[in-house]
Amino acid sequence: MARDVFIIGHPLSHSLSPLFQQRAFDFYHLDLIYRKWDVAEEDLKKAVGSLRKPQYLGANVTIPYKEKVARLLDHVSPLAERMGVVNTLVNRGGILWGYNTDVEGFMHALEEVQFDPQGKRAVILGAGGAARAVCFGLLEKRVNSISILNRTPERAEELCYLLKKYSSQTNFEIVSTEDRVPSFNLLVNCTPLGMEHSGLEGSLPIRPEFISPSSLVFDLTYNPEQTPLLREAQKVGAKTLNGLSMLIYQGAASFRLWTGREAPIETMREAISQS
Ligand code: NAP
Repeated sequence: MARDVFIIGHPLSHSLSPLFQQRAFDFYHLDLIYRKWDVAEEDLKKAVGSLRKPQYLGANVTIPYKEKVARLLDHVSPLAERMGVVNTLVNRGGILWGYNTDVEGFMHALEEVQFDPQGKRAVILGAGGAARAVCFGLLEKRVNSISILNRTPERAEELCYLLKKYSSQTNFEIVSTEDRVPSFNLLVNCTPLGMEHSGLEGSLPIRPEFISPSSLVFDLTYNPEQTPLLREAQKVGAKTLNGLSMLIYQGAASFRLWTGREAPIETMREAISQS
């Protein structure tokens, strides 16, 4: 019997996951179909509940449900539980498990460009689910400091409070305005500012004069590959990284959870580049 894997979110029209996950399933000739499931908020509980049926193997969860979905599951991995953010569901015999693979995806993307966060100063723009994953990854790598700038300061405070519970080595700071951003080795944009089809494609999450020239600027946005932030960062001499590698590596970790196999990374990359 063919089984389905979904990506659940709203809206979903521009998600690249179906493209590279289906290619990875086909690479191993698995009888699996990856489908988009655009779910309205009022239907989330019912939709997630139905994933316990045997014909469903699991799902990815994306904006805006990564935080809401955790309480609808039977088990949540210790990391996802600490973070309060789930992006991967696995149906094991009618029992639904939740995981977070964004942390692994983020760290793998940093490794690929040989950036070691240990002892470094990081600035995080945004305080949503992606920012949480980034911060937990940085804590694991013993970053020296994390400064968070977010449109809604209360959400940055909430994130800071959570992070402090899990690290006594890292210094945390909430930054109220961009002109107060300290100099940094790593800047990570965890907002949708600059993302295509979002109405925010022309927007910069921080003005160029506040970008440290010898830093790595990582924009989690992956469409377009060259965001306004990355263009400006290059102009001031910073190194840059877009969100494509993280997208592939978080997907590879989800693939491993569903299938027990290592994902064919190059095949997944090819699927995106041919799109
Ligand atoms: P989220 O939980 O909804 O958080 C969005 C964050 O962006 C919040 O901090 C929000 O601030 C801020 N924000 C939203 N609109 C804004 C605006 N107009 N001006 C200023 N700040 C704004 O979303 P998420 O899951 O963290 O995702 C954030 C981004 O990361 C998305 O673009 C997503 O595609 C990307 N992402 C990429 C990967 C990857 O693998 N490359 C993985 C995960 C996420 P408030 O708190 O004030 O609302």
